[in-house]
Amino acid sequence: MKRTTGQDRSITRHWRPATQAVRGGTWRSEMGETSEALFLTSGYTYDNAATVAARFAGEEDGMTYSRLQNPTVQMLEERIALLEGAEACRAQASGMAAMTTALLCQLSAGDHVVAAKAAFGSCRWLVDHLLPRFGITGTTIDANDNAAWEAAIRPNTKVFFFESPANPTMDVVDLEFICSLARQHGIVTVVDNAFATSALQKPMAFGADVVAYSATKMMDGQGRVLAGAVCGSDDFINNTLLPFQRNTGPNIAPFNAWVVLKGLETLDLRIFRQSENALQVATFLEGRVPRVRYPFLASHPQHALAIKQMKAGGSILSLELDGGRAEAHGLLDALQLIDISNNIGDSRSLMCHPASSTHHGVGPETRADMGVGENMLRLNVGLEDPQDVIDDLDQALCAIGL
Ligand SMILES: *Cc1c(COP(=O)(O)O)cnc(C)c1O
Repeated sequence: MKRTTGQDRSITRHWRPATQAVRGGTWRSEMGETSEALFLTSGYTYDNAATVAARFAGEEDGMTYSRLQNPTVQMLEERIALLEGAEACRAQASGMAAMTTALLCQLSAGDHVVAAKAAFGSCRWLVDHLLPRFGITGTTIDANDNAAWEAAIRPNTKVFFFESPANPTMDVVDLEFICSLARQHGIVTVVDNAFATSALQKPMAFGADVVAYSATKMMDGQGRVLAGAVCGSDDFINNTLLPFQRNTGPNIAPFNAWVVLKGLETLDLRIFRQSENALQVATFLEGRVPRVRYPFLASHPQHALAIKQMKAGGSILSLELDGGRAEAHGLLDALQLIDISNNIGDSRSLMCHPASSTHHGVGPETRADMGVGENMLRLNVGLEDPQDVIDDLDQALCAIGL
């Protein structure tokens, strides 16, 4: 295995994102394969015992065991780090493995976390249910309210944890303000950037310390594998996250890492096209349903902030009808092209009712606190012709009398 010509950080970090997405992190075996090799191996063999000793002692580079290193996974980590503009990255088995690892690797009993109240259901569960079991307390706040972040800080606050845009309320958080507030207080910011990805938004450019991903979403982009990643400084990744990861094992499978490497090659193309499509669909829906939330619609409460932080609005929007669950389910059941599915970031248009799916588990009180009503639907706009998606929504709305 060797790096391909030009694969040195001093060169690759100057490549533009579309180039990094196709070529970043590529190593080649002595076969000279064009596409990245898939190393489906759990272990490695050695020419002699001294080599094993040197590798375990950290005196010699090289693979020892796939929970510690795998060439396919390393290619993915280098590619994601380059795209993020981060010093280092570690891939994880899923988005939730990434969030859990990013938090638990740095928190101890007695610490306090401030988190956005509107979040992916399992991210809320970590703060509300998992961390308290280990003596880590949490305060959840309205993430759009900058003063609420400041007011929630305690002497033992160690981490700020939030998404922007948030799932499924599409709240946009003021990255620059929140990250600089955190820095002033020695607090580490952990940003879940799944909706935007590095192609649309680079939280580190606004001062974020750690950026965590569900790579299941836009990075794979074709609904095939679960995957995750955590990006940060060399110090954070190697000295804080890696000891936790190597000993607890939330690692991504090499096959899944290879699929995401392939997905990343088209990330730039897909996310800009899907954002264009989503804006068209959002504009149509705005004239047709009581409320649409999409960061690049002028009606979004944080539209100016979204434009400052993001290059495009992303593939996801949410909408609200006037009725309750029956009407929302009725719309889903009337769809003919868009699939009923709780996944996002896929090249297919997918729609779900968060209150009875992704956000069922957090319970009715937390849903009310987050602003996830029975009348809310979430739509991932895919790569189909947007007019076909609009036609489908139009006929489904007509079918339920709207
Ligand atoms: C999907 C998602 C997750 C969880 O990712 P998995 O890959 O499903 O484990 C976390 N955060 C956000 C914002 C998500 O959309």
